[in-house]
Amino acid sequence: MVNESLLRGTDLDRYTRQIIMPLIREEGQLLLKKSSVVIVGAGGLGGPILQYLSAAGIGKIGIVDFDEVQPSNLNRQTLYKPHDHGQNKAILAASWATSFNPLISLDPLPVKLDSTNIRTLLEPYPILIDASDNFATRYLLSDYAFESGKPLFFGAVSGFTGVCTTFIPGETGCLRCIYPKTPSEQYQSLEKSYGIIGFTPGVVGSIMASNVVRYLLQIGNYLKNQLLTIDLNENSFMTISYQPNPNCITPHQPL
Ligand SMILES: [Zn+2]
Repeated sequence: MVNESLLRGTDLDRYTRQIIMPLIREEGQLLLKKSSVVIVGAGGLGGPILQYLSAAGIGKIGIVDFDEVQPSNLNRQTLYKPHDHGQNKAILAASWATSFNPLISLDPLPVKLDSTNIRTLLEPYPILIDASDNFATRYLLSDYAFESGKPLFFGAVSGFTGVCTTFIPGETGCLRCIYPKTPSEQYQSLEKSYGIIGFTPGVVGSIMASNVVRYLLQIGNYLKNQLLTIDLNENSFMTISYQPNPNCITPHQPL
């Protein structure tokens, strides 16, 4: 049963609607409270991920983003307001989450993630979430996840479409198993090339947050070796199974 000294009255009040869910209960809520995750990217995907992980009561959330808010972000990045123009997204996003849920702790990381700083910056976080918008960062995160043995929740969006999956070292393939080669320059900047509308990252980010929470609780299907593809123009949701690529250049155990 719940240890009252760990889950205080304010927590019980705030999370009561999910604590009564049979698959969560007080034990599950305590697990979420003790969990620590990092979201890389505080844009269209990172926003809903942060909102729903904050709402669910994940105890510690790091958020990495070097970018500043631009007017063209506001059709999809709903954490921000016009007067935030020019301010750092990681700091703004952490500030939003702190005021939304004072029971959790936020670490804003307003830095550009690269191969020289990723190990130091992400070392404190056992769970990785890729809400970035470019393949250089996506490969960097996938390689780091498999080097460090940490689960990585991946998502990407373009126009009305999106994909997401969960990479777990030792259990699944990695990003390079699905996308072995760096996509073309045009494909790397999907949002600029093909456009994006806010509900697409809203849906994909919400599904990624669901997968993170249910991975932490070890319940349900959180897309291991499965790529969920979503087309909101067609209201189409498809799950495609994939296998680890035995010729993958990322060192990971063949399954
Ligand atoms: Zn691989």
